[in-house]
This record gives sequence, structure tokens and C-alpha cells, in this order.
Amino acid sequence: MTTQMTIKLNDGNAIPQVGLGVWKAEGDQARNAVKSAIDAGYRHIDTAATYGNEGQVGEGVRDAGIARDELFITTKLWNDAQGYDSTLAAFDKSMTKLGLDYLDLYLIHWPAPRKGLFVETWKALVKLKEDGRIRSIGVSNFEREHLDRIIGETGVKPVINQIEIHPGFQQAEMRRHHEELGIATQSWSPLGQGSMLSNPVIEEIARKHGKSPAQVIIRWHLDSGLVVIPKSVTPSRIVENFDVFSFRLEDDDIASISSLDSADGRIGPDPMTADF
Ligand code: NAD
Repeated sequence: MTTQMTIKLNDGNAIPQVGLGVWKAEGDQARNAVKSAIDAGYRHIDTAATYGNEGQVGEGVRDAGIARDELFITTKLWNDAQGYDSTLAAFDKSMTKLGLDYLDLYLIHWPAPRKGLFVETWKALVKLKEDGRIRSIGVSNFEREHLDRIIGETGVKPVINQIEIHPGFQQAEMRRHHEELGIATQSWSPLGQGSMLSNPVIEEIARKHGKSPAQVIIRWHLDSGLVVIPKSVTPSRIVENFDVFSFRLEDDDIASISSLDSADGRIGPDPMTADF
């Protein structure tokens, strides 16, 4: 039997520590994945306007028939909608597609620093929260200087920063900075988009615990205090990725996984230069 774990956010709300990621899940694939996940016990789904599947995520949520207040739904504002008024309009569009009357967490997807709009965008998120349309507001792919600017200019801290983290790219410095600020850290591409699953160190730890490589990596995120959103559209893998609450890694496992960290382990774009 699995027991959900939650992390307390700096605004008093709580986020389930494991969620389902749905990037690149299209159409009915996304709808069915969301339903399978909720049936398996997940209560947290991570989508984004740019994934093009907010409508199907909403359908999957309704198919599952779970009370709204038991679920934690995240979506993200895409870069082309940054700016105060355009953020308010983009939020309305996302909510219409999702078919929800409030959102649990809204994130600015990328700082896109060359646009120079992320502070205005953050002010719109603050307004949406004040209006009761969003429970919690946060960011994704923000570096220190971007966090410092939005906090400095509004006095409002994001509850979370969703950044690329997996055993091959562990981001110790950003995690320390988040801890100092009281911001939770959420790991995107937590399995390294699947690339970490055949790593011999991970495979060895998996054999030792009688678990799969995916379960070992997800457990590493949990034991590291991270919120984690592994993606799968395969029902058996969705179940497997949530069956991670009945074991813990040992100190020597954590030390072995630490040795996989690499300064050039990043798979996705660099937030300082990403300009799309
Ligand atoms: P991931 O690290 O979750 O890896 C997903 C891939 O791993 C799957 O496509 C599948 O091939 C494989 N996999 C999953 N479970 C498995 C299992 N049990 N056994 C074998 N293989 C398995 O990759 P991701 O989708 O890039 O990241 C997860 C989520 O993070 C996304 O879906 C999205 O919600 C979010 N994300 C956010 C950003 C951002 O900029 N904020 C960027 C990328 C991803």
C-alpha cells in the first residue's frame, strides 16, 4: 500500500511530492495517463500551456471522478504570453481548456530574460492569487538573479522553482539557494528523460533493493526533499513510478548517486540563454 507524501509550501499550502508529468503526451494518451495515474493514487498532475494537452488533462481528471479538493493541478504560462495583461488572458485560456474553476499552482515556464517581461508577468500571477483564482504561484527555470528580481520588486516569494534535476545533473547550488529562501525545489526530467535508467550505478542499487531503476531514481528525489514529476503514458509504468513509498535508500546508495552528478549533465536548455 502506498502512502502519499506532501511538502509544505511557504504560503501554507501543501504539494504532493510525486506527480505525473505529461509533456509530449498527446490527445487521448494524455487523458488516459491522467486517469490511470489518479486511479493509481497520484493526486498531482503537471501540465503546461505549451504541451497542448490542458483539455485532455481536464478530461482525465473528470474521468477519474475524484473530488477536486483532493487534487493538485499545475499548469504553466508559456513565454509568448509574458507581460501583465497577456498573462491574465493566457491564464483564462488555460482554465477554460482545463475546465477547472481554480488552479493549485501556476508557474512562469521560463524567465526568458531577453524579453525583459518576467517581473510584470510575476505581478500578474500575484494578482491572480490575490483574486483567489490560484492557490499557489511559482516559477520554473529561474536562476538566482531572476528569483532575486521578482522577490525584490514585489516582496512575494514563489512557493516553488521547477528546474532540471536528475542524478546526472543535481543542481546542489540552486537547491541550497532555494532552501535559504524557503522555496521548494521541483525536479523536471527527473529520470533524465529515461537516459538515467540504464546507468550501471542505478541498476546495481535497484538490484540490491529489489526495485526498478525508475523507482530508485524517484526515491532519490524523495529522499533529497524534492518534488518529482516523472512522465509516462504506460499504465504499468505509471503504477511502478508511484510504488516508491515502502523503501528508503541507504547512505551508501545516496553517496553512489552523488558521484553521478556532472556540471555538464544538463539535457534541456540553459535558462540564462534559452530564448524561445
Ligand atoms: P522524465 O525524466 O520523466 O522521463 C520520461 C521518460 O522516461 C518516459 O518518456 C519514458 O520513456 C521513461 N520512463 C518513465 N517511467 C519509466 C519506467 N518506469 N520504466 C522505464 N522507462 C520509464 O522526462 P520528462 O517528461 O522530460 O520530465 C517529466 C516532466 O517534467 C514532464 O512530463 C513535464 O511535466 C516536466 N518538464 C518540465 C520542464 C520545464 O521546463 N518546466 C521541462 C521538461 C519537463
